[in-house]
This record gives sequence, structure tokens and C-alpha cells, in this order.
Amino acid sequence: MGNINTHKTLILNSTFQPLSLATPQRALALLFSRKINVLKESNINLRSVEQSFFIPKVAALTYYVKAPYARRVALNRENIFIRDSYICQYCGVDAESIDHIVPKSKGGLHDWSNVVACCKKCNLLKADKQLSKTILNLQKNPTVPEGNFWIKTIIGNNPDPDWKEYLILT
Ligand SMILES: [Zn+2]
Repeated sequence: MGNINTHKTLILNSTFQPLSLATPQRALALLFSRKINVLKESNINLRSVEQSFFIPKVAALTYYVKAPYARRVALNRENIFIRDSYICQYCGVDAESIDHIVPKSKGGLHDWSNVVACCKKCNLLKADKQLSKTILNLQKNPTVPEGNFWIKTIIGNNPDPDWKEYLILT
């Protein structure tokens, strides 16, 4: 039995692109106003005198929303970790901090192409040096997240397995 307090409904656009997560209250409000079609139900059952129904797990809007999400992904620690899969971009172990490839003290910018997730060890090795003055190598060049990346920032790193088939991430 799912937990209603932590339950989230994945809401898709009418084009089936992932749009957002909704609380049970919000999902039910959308359902009762016929703004969504349920694609998958959760096992959380609500009963009233007249009816019994399941809170949706995945639902699609019945109308098209021009995605307000062609927005830019906020450049913050969590999103950098998500882009870099929580892996040190120098050595491949679990990342614990963020490194500015060109150090800020040497004019490096705080932007997507100059920040990577990195581990403590590499962070110490790198310190305030230019990359070329260290033994470290980047495994790939960091880029600005594109496409549906933002949905990852909404659903987090462990999306509900029942959402998987609807999360076509680019
Ligand atoms: Zn490392």
C-alpha cells in the first residue's frame, strides 16, 4: 500500500511529455475537474459513501500546456550533481563537491561549462590551480543541460519505477 503523504502523481502534457509532479490533493482536483486522464493508478484507495477510486500515479492533461519549462535549469549544487550523475568528473568516484575548472580566483566563471561535480581527493589535488597544472583530466566537457533535463530536477534521482516508461529523458 502506497503512502498518501509521500505520494506524487506524475503529470504529463497532452503530448505525453512529462510536465510536473502533483500532490494527491492536486491530482484529485485535476481529476474531478476532468483536466487529466489517468494512465496508471496507484494502489492508494480513497472511499467515500458514493464512490471508491485510486489516486493516479501517472496522468496526462486533457489539454495542451505550452511548457513554461523551456526555462533554464538553475545552476546550483544539486543540479550540477544531477547533470554529472553524482560522479567525480575527473576520476569517476562518488562526487562530494563542486569544482570550478578555471578557478574563480583566475577569472573562471560560475557557469555550466566551468563547473563539475568532483570528489574530495580531486578537489584537494586541483585546489586553486589551472587544470593543465594538475594530473587531472576531465572525462567529458561539461555542457549546459538541455532538453527535458529539468524534469530530472523535479523527479530527483530515484523516480518511482512506475513512472519510468513515461520519462523519456533527453
Ligand atoms: Zn575524483
